[in-house]
Amino acid sequence: MDVIKVKNLTVTYNRKPAIKGINLNIQNGRIIGIIGPNGAGKSTLIKGILGFLPVDTGEVKVFGENVNQVLKKISYIPQKEQFDWDFPINVYDVVVMGRYPYLSLFGHPTQKDKKIVIDALEKVEMLKYKDTQIRNLSGGQQQRIFLARALAQESEIYFMDEPFVGVDAKTEKSIFEIIKELKESGKTILIVHHDLSRIKEYFDEVILINQTLIAYGNTEKVFTKENIEKTYGGQLTILQKANQLL
Ligand code: ADP
Ligand code: MG
Repeated sequence: MDVIKVKNLTVTYNRKPAIKGINLNIQNGRIIGIIGPNGAGKSTLIKGILGFLPVDTGEVKVFGENVNQVLKKISYIPQKEQFDWDFPINVYDVVVMGRYPYLSLFGHPTQKDKKIVIDALEKVEMLKYKDTQIRNLSGGQQQRIFLARALAQESEIYFMDEPFVGVDAKTEKSIFEIIKELKESGKTILIVHHDLSRIKEYFDEVILINQTLIAYGNTEKVFTKENIEKTYGGQLTILQKANQLL
């Protein structure tokens, strides 16, 4: 099933295009890496698909609909630095936000919503921190909370922007285990990942991007030396690292 169709998507900031002419047909039940150098437009691609940015040209369909009609089915974990971690709010209240799409106007979370939130916190091993202010969490704990909020939303598609940044190895492993479970239950997970290691281990498919789409498809086929060179241009240290990994 095609879950996301992107046709000729271009997004521009102050007349400078950040992504140009992107075409993608994404199917469900896979883990997809969005890979490219800093400033390549990875975050912009996600925000463009989600309809958070004015789109210059192009069309996005999610489950065959305009994205704003299906936002309930989409969880978004922003890049960590885009979130105000000093905001005075506790862990439970952040995760409960995942249930907002289900509440009626001025509605309060029901017992069922509360149970889903507690289960999500348990799943990411953060239940005992439920009353902790988010500013007091470590980087790894912050990512776990983001994941819990996304899980509480019970959506079909998960966009995660660099979920492993600032996270210890143990947290990365347990986050990835949860991501794999999501995939096995037919969900679609798109992950911005800027580290070239683990790509073949983590992703069924990769989107290689540097303003334009360099390549998209099965990781074994697409994550090649030639495509990595095209994506990263002359960034020698990255290319040397890629050589060791291929
Ligand atoms: P990535 O996530 O791959 O690092 P981004 O999508 O954040 O890249 O950014 C792509 C380009 O768009 C960069 O050149 C960046 O400086 C620019 N850009 C991103 N956000 C904005 C913004 N809000 N206003 C102006 N330029 C932006
Ligand atoms: Mg980014």
